[in-house]
Amino acid sequence: MAVLPIRITGDPVLHSPAREVTEFDDELRTLVAEMFDTMREAPGVGLAAPQVGVPLRVFVYNWTDDNETLWRGVAINPELWITPTPIGEPDEENESEGCLSVPGERFPLRRSPLATLRAIDLEQKPFEIKAEGWLARIFQHEFDHLEGVLYSDRLDYDHAKASRKTIRKRNWGVPGLSWLPGEDHLEE
Ligand code: ZN
Repeated sequence: MAVLPIRITGDPVLHSPAREVTEFDDELRTLVAEMFDTMREAPGVGLAAPQVGVPLRVFVYNWTDDNETLWRGVAINPELWITPTPIGEPDEENESEGCLSVPGERFPLRRSPLATLRAIDLEQKPFEIKAEGWLARIFQHEFDHLEGVLYSDRLDYDHAKASRKTIRKRNWGVPGLSWLPGEDHLEE
């Protein structure tokens, strides 16, 4: 098992669009295996390659829904279609989201309830998943990472203010910071 350091908000790789994958080689296989290890150790329900410092359009996800169905896989060069985001205030309890690149924090954010993911896997085989609820949220969150967007960039005014304050207080928001799952235990 190899766990990779996770970049913290402020690192340029998190704030720039990632590149399409063109080489389906052993290096890519190793990256994906290590991303699964890192996601498990963190622990998280999704992880995008830019979060481990690799500017490629790849994310992994691992989430069990209310019906005990396990949704686990890798999405390479994904496309995402979403339904409109409902208007209104996000609910603190049911719509709070976190990110391993803003570790230990959660803020509420409205997301589209439905998302269709189309991507290819490591064998370059195309697949499609029509996601709803939390899985749709995971796909939107991870897809954003590939565009250089963090969920903290999408928060509404009051929550954006609170998240900026937290990021300043923790001395994040600058290049070069990371944490290592299993080694670094961040204070809640
Ligand atoms: Zn994230």
